[in-house]
Amino acid sequence: MAGNDFDAKDAEVAETIARTHKRELAACDQILGETLGHISPWKGRDISVAGPSRRSPDEIILMELVRTLASYGASVQLTRTGYAEQASMLNRSLFEGMLVAHWVHANGAEAEEQFRRAGRLNDYLWVERLENTGWFEEDDVPIEAIEVEQQELAALKLDFGKYGERLWTGHRSIRYLVADVEDMWDDPMAKQELHNYLRVAHHDNNQILHSTVSGLNRLKGPDEEDGIRLALGPSLRHVPQSLLGAYWNFAQLVTLIFDRFQLPDRSSFDLAMERREFDFYRFTAAEVEGVGRNDPCPCGSGEKFKRCHEEQVAEFRK
Ligand SMILES: [Zn+2]
Repeated sequence: MAGNDFDAKDAEVAETIARTHKRELAACDQILGETLGHISPWKGRDISVAGPSRRSPDEIILMELVRTLASYGASVQLTRTGYAEQASMLNRSLFEGMLVAHWVHANGAEAEEQFRRAGRLNDYLWVERLENTGWFEEDDVPIEAIEVEQQELAALKLDFGKYGERLWTGHRSIRYLVADVEDMWDDPMAKQELHNYLRVAHHDNNQILHSTVSGLNRLKGPDEEDGIRLALGPSLRHVPQSLLGAYWNFAQLVTLIFDRFQLPDRSSFDLAMERREFDFYRFTAAEVEGVGRNDPCPCGSGEKFKRCHEEQVAEFRK
């Protein structure tokens, strides 16, 4: 934000985040770079294409990947510059896209059909919405209405909601979508992680995205005797949560892409990610009390403390 009073604060906040979250930011950048290296130019198998006015499951999943790449990059960039809460609003979108891609992967033919049908309802309702604005003379709406018979319209509304408000997959909400795909996480720990993400991180991201009591209250400083003190502009709030949330969602989607499209070098990608997982551990000074510089780091990476998390704890303490 050039030319206003946020300037000095912007620089200070960004510098602090770069210093105190160096490892997580590097992990976030690395996974994006490695993914781009695999998909542009494309190194996977041939893509199956559905033809005119239809989208194949392959095409839908790749569109979701492209959407995710942009949102993930933007999320990490927002966090880096002190807007981690705004990044978490994007992380809510990353979670939904990641789940949808898994559902499409598991329900190919049904997904192709639902995508086509939900698109028809959306196109139909869009013209209806424009007509109802009063902006246009009758039959003058600049988009051609699509022909939908009453019987088809009723069936579409039954599946996707009267206003098309459901997910195009037909699920009423993310919770139902998770229930439908959770068995794709066959490792019990990974499935638990998915559930925890839904119950804790996704819940919290929704609190931040919408106007909620907890979303508003977190903008407030300590209680003041004679009024309220609110911090303007970038902040250090929510940084670890938003970086981990973005990284976790991205990793879930990219591993699906590796499997589905037979991208090469999955094992070296997994190994790099396994190492990077430790970068998201954070310890308070109390948690590492008594740990010597040459002792193994309590994060479990196998590295000496001085070469691993020591610096991060020192920064955390400030
Ligand atoms: Zn460590």
